[in-house]
Amino acid sequence: MFHQISKEKSLQKALSVFNFAKEKSAFYQDKYKALPEISTYKTWLEVPILTKDELYNNSYPKSTKMLTLDMPLKKTIITSTGGSSGLARYTMLTYEEWDKFLKRQADALRLMGIKEEDVVANLFVAGSLWPSFIALHDNIRLIGATHLPISANIDFDEILRYIMEFKPTVLLSLPTVFVILADKILQQNLNVDFVKIIGYAGEHMSEMIRSHLRKAFGSSVKIESLAYTSADCGLIGYQCDSCASNEYHLPTDFQFVEFYNFEENRVCEPGETGEVLITNLERLSQPIIRYRIGDVAKWTGKACACGDKNPTFIIGGRAGDDFKIGGAYISMDVVEKSFSEYVSGHGISANYQFVLDDISGAKLKIVLRIESSDVEESRRVSENIKKNIEKNIDDIKVGEEMGLVILEIEFVELGKLPRSPITGKVKRLNDKRVR
Ligand SMILES: [Zn+2]
Repeated sequence: MFHQISKEKSLQKALSVFNFAKEKSAFYQDKYKALPEISTYKTWLEVPILTKDELYNNSYPKSTKMLTLDMPLKKTIITSTGGSSGLARYTMLTYEEWDKFLKRQADALRLMGIKEEDVVANLFVAGSLWPSFIALHDNIRLIGATHLPISANIDFDEILRYIMEFKPTVLLSLPTVFVILADKILQQNLNVDFVKIIGYAGEHMSEMIRSHLRKAFGSSVKIESLAYTSADCGLIGYQCDSCASNEYHLPTDFQFVEFYNFEENRVCEPGETGEVLITNLERLSQPIIRYRIGDVAKWTGKACACGDKNPTFIIGGRAGDDFKIGGAYISMDVVEKSFSEYVSGHGISANYQFVLDDISGAKLKIVLRIESSDVEESRRVSENIKKNIEKNIDDIKVGEEMGLVILEIEFVELGKLPRSPITGKVKRLNDKRVR
């Protein structure tokens, strides 16, 4: 399904994107003006890296400098990355590019096992220029499956009502949305064994969430990440049944990908982890060339058991979900470990927020707020969860003993944690000390 081309052919495509950009885009003309002629892999390595800031500052509508199109725009779509930090970035694609992006994503969904006979519930949030909902509309149509455009904009009970009525075989959404559906399914003791595939994107799916979903949807449900994608570059990696959870095949005819060692200023050796640089081979309206996307990865260097010749790589963890207490960095995994044994029982959900805030008297207040379908019942295990946190995070225990830290466990009703109005995500770590 996915074409495979040699690295040399992929480079040739990247070079033609480069030459096009240098000729047609004011930004790249300027960025590349001191470069010699680039025509071989050796000279390609001299092409300067594109940073996030450069992309942000030179993209439409802030600027038209990166564009190769004439104004006014025609036959284009503008979407947003939905950044909750208020620094949303916008992406403009021509309809032709949008179709090419979606064709690859539809192929990845087919590989996940979605077929024409499937009934697919699209449970992403629509609106605010967020592309997931409408992109899936086109993807599902390309596959030829039946589409239920339910969205996550409506009440969760309404979502569940549609699910029970139409019995979709595939559900596509964010982990946050699946967690609350699982909470409600467990609460009402519903049978949803018609669901065969849960495809997620947008957030990390922890082991705790995975096991919570299995309790509600059954142990045989297939839970898979939709793909490794970015709004600017489209599909960067797809998974076959032989891929490990963080392993992806590269679509060689769509992206030219390099892993880069910035400390030593060179491309990584096989097996060496480096930062991902992407050159998209088909986006010409605003070319993306050697873009430092912010992820780390390494080539596996192994032939995949599925027989697909497109090379495989392993994505490293994304940084960010750590917080600092008393000089030590603590991973959110430790927080999850403190209450995961209680999730799916006593009405306890896997949707939670861990809030750290400085309060008067130089004290640190920490609140673990967890959603629950039965708040009274959940409270019975509050003390145990508190003890687990104190046991797992020594700096919290010591802080409490010194009177510098206050730790509270709170339960709130399902759906009551603050969610991003654009994406529907719950921010699991809310460190108010970091601004
Ligand atoms: Zn494979």
